[in-house]
Amino acid sequence: MNLDRLAHRRWSDEQEALRASATTFVEREVLPNLEEWEAARSIPRDLHRSAAEQGFLGVSFPDEVGGAGGGLLDSVCLTEALMEAGASGGLIASLMTHGIALPHIARSGSADLVDRFVRPTLAGELIGALAITEPDGGSDVANIRTRAVRDGAHFVVNGAKTFITSGVRADFVTTAVRTGGPGHQGISLLVVAKGTPGFSVSRQLDKMGWHCSDTAELSFTDVLVPAENLVGDEGSGFVQIAMAFVTERVGLAVQGYSTAARCLKLAHAYAREREAFGQPLLGNQVVRHKLVEMHRKVEAARVYTREVARRYDGGEQPLVEALHAKRLGVDAAAYCTNEAVQIHGGTGYMHGTEVERHYRDARILGIGGGANEVLDDLAAKLLGYLP
Ligand SMILES: Cc1cc2nc3c(=O)[nH]c(=O)nc-3n(C[C@H](O)[C@H](O)[C@H](O)COP(=O)(O)OP(=O)(O)OC[C@H]3O[C@@H](n4cnc5c(N)ncnc54)[C@H](O)[C@@H]3O)c2cc1C
Repeated sequence: MNLDRLAHRRWSDEQEALRASATTFVEREVLPNLEEWEAARSIPRDLHRSAAEQGFLGVSFPDEVGGAGGGLLDSVCLTEALMEAGASGGLIASLMTHGIALPHIARSGSADLVDRFVRPTLAGELIGALAITEPDGGSDVANIRTRAVRDGAHFVVNGAKTFITSGVRADFVTTAVRTGGPGHQGISLLVVAKGTPGFSVSRQLDKMGWHCSDTAELSFTDVLVPAENLVGDEGSGFVQIAMAFVTERVGLAVQGYSTAARCLKLAHAYAREREAFGQPLLGNQVVRHKLVEMHRKVEAARVYTREVARRYDGGEQPLVEALHAKRLGVDAAAYCTNEAVQIHGGTGYMHGTEVERHYRDARILGIGGGANEVLDDLAAKLLGYLP
């Protein structure tokens, strides 16, 4: 069966239109420049404006905060289309960082924060980032150390964050800070604006993949943050972070299986053209079976993940299912990027070959947004598989 037909058969007319404009966007605005952006380790600000004009940044954010409406499944549809048209994981991470930086602010009920940060970001005028991970550790979110002490109308923030996506370019950072005692109840979210004295990008980090996505180490030294930049109630930061877990994990799942789908397409095309031992690679049963296994992994992850998104949009909190979706997407990406490089042979190992980039980019998916082991441990707990 034709992969594209199988994959896209269930979208609504609106979602088909979104897919079509995402594909055109990638073909016209991304593909001619992607290698340059990868080399520059950054994407231009104009791309955010352009993506906003086409309605991509507002997808799944409500009208009331400047969004375009729709639900998680619309985001899934958009990411699939962007990736399958040839975008890179780094591009999605960087262009769509608002997807992790804004949900807490959008839900906070503060019209002031929404006006200052959410609306301009969804309009492509500002860039936001989310800073949770610290140099001492990222998996154990409940133990973050960056401290914010209330002093009159301000919080005084001291600490450091690392591995922050879009942190170099960000105009503001939704930052997890400790305002109370130890453990998850002591955590709050504060929006820290670029240019606030004492707040700086201490380093731009170079990475194995996601090259066009800038990644920052951030430093906070006696930073005075206005108390009105507190997102939600003091001490509610961990719960707010947890509320975004389903959408974040589904987003990474989609990135995983869409990368895998793209690699399958590229590997199939290469195997049809490339000859060895007097026949196309596709003439070998073992190569055909690799493609079949890639297809199976892509489809299993895709169908499962879309179902999780549907349930979420229907009002459920599919926590375990979102964990499974992420793992299925991560595994599909790991398997398919590896096999795609293998099928491309030496060409697959060369910089400038698309599958080589996907191979490097996909490696982060089992680490970021919760390492595989940490998420499996959480699934075991949620499923009651405890000693
Ligand atoms: C490219 C990139 C972009 C990122 N973007 C952001 C961002 O925008 N914002 C942000 O806040 N963070 C971001 N991160 C951080 C990311 O979420 C963390 O790297 C991740 O949560 C893991 O934390 P850590 O790196 O500190 O690993 P650690 O917590 O030190 O864990 C290291 C490894 O130990 C193992 N491990 C840990 N705990 C357990 C356990 N309980 N059981 C078994 N094994 C375990 C896992 O294999 C894990 O990979 C990004 C990271 C990267 C690399």
